[in-house]
Amino acid sequence: MIKCLRAWFKSKDNTPEPKRFSDHEINPGLYSKNAVKVIKDLSSAGFKAYLVGGAVRDALVGISPKDFDVATDAHPEQVKKIFRNSILIGRRFKLVHVRFGREIIEVATFRSGDQGSCFGKEKRLFGKKGLLLRDNIYGAIDDDVWRRDFTINSLYYDAINNQVLDYTGGMDDLKAKRVKVIGDPVARYKEDPVRMIRAIRYAAKLDFKIEKKTDSAIRAHKDLFENVSPDRVFVEIIKTFYGGFALKAFDKLAEYDFINLLFPKVYKIMTGKLKGYNYTDMLISRALYNTDIRYKSKKPLSTAFIFVVFLWPVLQHNLYKLSKADGAFINKVKQAIKETLKNHDGPISIPKGIAETCEHVWLLQFKLMYREDGKIQDVLDNPKFRMAYDFLVLRAQAGEEVYNLASWWNDFIAADDEKKSNMILSYTERAKSMRAKHDKPRNGHRRGKQKNRPEAAKN
Ligand code: ATP
Ligand code: MG
Repeated sequence: MIKCLRAWFKSKDNTPEPKRFSDHEINPGLYSKNAVKVIKDLSSAGFKAYLVGGAVRDALVGISPKDFDVATDAHPEQVKKIFRNSILIGRRFKLVHVRFGREIIEVATFRSGDQGSCFGKEKRLFGKKGLLLRDNIYGAIDDDVWRRDFTINSLYYDAINNQVLDYTGGMDDLKAKRVKVIGDPVARYKEDPVRMIRAIRYAAKLDFKIEKKTDSAIRAHKDLFENVSPDRVFVEIIKTFYGGFALKAFDKLAEYDFINLLFPKVYKIMTGKLKGYNYTDMLISRALYNTDIRYKSKKPLSTAFIFVVFLWPVLQHNLYKLSKADGAFINKVKQAIKETLKNHDGPISIPKGIAETCEHVWLLQFKLMYREDGKIQDVLDNPKFRMAYDFLVLRAQAGEEVYNLASWWNDFIAADDEKKSNMILSYTERAKSMRAKHDKPRNGHRRGKQKNRPEAAKN
């Protein structure tokens, strides 16, 4: 107990008062009314509550925040009691989600940075090599601030007094356009290696530089990534590629040699170490460019698409490996798809639903090519048809020889019923005559039934 009290006094002595900024340029209109309501309700119930993290950082640089995190001294169970429209979530970090229709305000209790709790049952749990596995020791705002990742993410906005509280120099770093880890970068990356991709993500998103030590620790300690949680990497990847700065983020990740780390097989194909596909660079850049455009024009984005794209070169490589094997082509495609989703080698866990979408869209690429008699309408009615068609167009843009095929489908989609029937008829005729040519007897012998499917008619 004495040890705990000493630690408590020590941490209080060491924590300076925050700088308070009232002359910030936050436009309160950028904030969700629901987030402000959560803060006011917590405050009326006698608790402290602030907006924190991305919402404050983004509003300070004039970007409209997309989600809102609230930090409070109320414990999760207390928050839950105040908001009937809320649920408790999380294990590593217990949180409350307060739901207003489709909007969710995430409410987290201030955490303490101490290594053991003096008050309560919960402990900080560290795993192999310093990895932080559980962090449910509650504290005050001046504890909470030090366990945040970057100074620019540690600003608290007091919506009631319209003030920004800055303990770590985040305001200066925002002005200097700098991403800087709070504390010792190596120790902070050891606790959570995902922070390395987060630093790169913020640099790309905000067009900031990564501060020198924050930067050199990323470059020197990539091996920490071996301990990373694949589910959390998946979440970061989605945030990285679906925020309107995907192309910039990809280039930044490449600059830090993280493409190799995140998508090792794709990287090997891109650099010619694995064979089977020559358009990887173009395919990925076009996809990310299109994703950024769609994000900016507020068009819907499918989280699966990135994986459809990134893993297509791996699928082509797997198919290439099977090219000399016996068996029907479509079975090889299915085998290659399975292998691609099972062994993509990266530290990212791909959720089942996304893997299923990849499988459908990839299989449809072959169906779009073969346009089988009587099955064209089925292809058109397939719920993944639109994504598959967009992907086909992307492949054409990347330089694959599918330009004529994509343009056939483009015409087909736009055609009326009569033109559709004519297009199917003329394609089927052409495919038949191609097949007949292919099956013609040579040297007086009729060729046996082909094991491998003949190539589709040239489009
Ligand atoms: P975005 O705009 O992409 O949501 P964000 O900064 O809000 O960015 P979140 O992942 O939503 O990012 O996290 C909210 C806040 O929680 C962060 O700003 C940061 O203060 C803190 N945080 C999140 N992840 C970590 C982490 N791995 N280590 C320390 N603090 C973190
Ligand atoms: Mg956020």
